[in-house]
Amino acid sequence: MAQIIAIANQKGGVGKTTTAVNLAASLAVAEQRTLLIDGDPQGNATSGVGLEGERLTKTVYDALIGQMPLEEVILRAIQFAHLDVAPTTPDLAGAEIELIDRNDRELAMRDAIAPIRDRYDYILIDCPPSLGLLTINMLAAADSVLIPVQCEYYALEGLSQLLNTVHRIQQSVNPKLAIDGVLLTMYDARLNLSRQVVTDAREYFGPKVFETIVPRNVRLAEAPSFGKPIVLYDIASVGAQAYLSVAREIVHRNAPPMSVSPHPKGNVAESAELLPDSRAAEQTQQRIGGQPLGEIPVQQTEQASEQATEQVSEQASEQASEHTSEHPPEYASERARDESSDQPPAHDRRDTDLEQKLAVTPSADEPAAHTDPQSDEASHSPAPEEQPEAR
Ligand code: ATP
Ligand code: MG
Repeated sequence: MAQIIAIANQKGGVGKTTTAVNLAASLAVAEQRTLLIDGDPQGNATSGVGLEGERLTKTVYDALIGQMPLEEVILRAIQFAHLDVAPTTPDLAGAEIELIDRNDRELAMRDAIAPIRDRYDYILIDCPPSLGLLTINMLAAADSVLIPVQCEYYALEGLSQLLNTVHRIQQSVNPKLAIDGVLLTMYDARLNLSRQVVTDAREYFGPKVFETIVPRNVRLAEAPSFGKPIVLYDIASVGAQAYLSVAREIVHRNAPPMSVSPHPKGNVAESAELLPDSRAAEQTQQRIGGQPLGEIPVQQTEQASEQATEQVSEQASEQASEHTSEHPPEYASERARDESSDQPPAHDRRDTDLEQKLAVTPSADEPAAHTDPQSDEASHSPAPEEQPEAR
């Protein structure tokens, strides 16, 4: 049964779509069956995965107003074997008006998703920058809401409105809706302000804040214009590494506790850590020869999670090497500046073996030292206080 995650924040330009597209791609790389639903009439998630709005005849609008099953709208294996996409055009804006008079107007999306939910491990929904009926529909359909928060001025302002909306939905149509979690985006290590937002968010939301912080990274901003998720556009960029890391956090959170491959050299492609609940449970039970669930030593679970990490990294590298990434020359200097300034705060970086395994071979035109936020370079970089501020 899919975990349905709505990516929402009524504030514009905070990284909702960038997160939806790149998280979906990263989960697909990890062989999680993933559906990306573009729930925003702007259609940025649709174009972000290379789909052209003008050519689309069946869209989320049709499913939302109930004139077509969502299944017919879904386009299969978009750029990755495990990534399906329900695309959107500006027509979707009209759905709000069409739904307004219906009694069950908040539940249209949930009803549309219900028949296909079992086919996926993750369903990610990109929400529009508003708290209108479209967003309410997406939140009513979701198990959890992921809130991207830009490390910028007034980052946390207005969040209480979103939290109130979530609360109202919990009290009415979707009592199980969880906040899981807050993702800090566009972090710029040169700015005191960015560091302050991280501190404030962690103080306010505690463990609900993802450990991974997405740095400001020009490669993330370039990728949509090529219609590619970052793992295909530039796997070695810090932006790609960050979203792979967010995907890993999510997979780990949702992994069944007993997931394990007891043999250290076991086939990582079948690692139960990366498989959905029932399949994982079945495979795990077969592997461990009937050992009762819940009695797996912690050490074995750690092994499985290391294997899972290796798998995400290896598969991402393989897929990326199949695609040529284009690097427009005009971005070169901006990129160099960008890559050198986007390290998350030292105290937020984890330097465990697990993290180091996420490092991948940098692309030919990238200096190796600038490719991985959790690399040696990161651990040798000056503490945030010592870094120069942006001019
Ligand atoms: P909207 O509210 O309009 O839907 P959004 O919340 O979906 O916006 P995005 O479209 O993901 O935000 O991002 C806004 C802009 O910032 C885009 O141009 C995107 O490419 C850029 N951007 C997002 N994340 C990053 C990042 N980590 N580094 C650099 N640029 C980024
Ligand atoms: Mg968007």
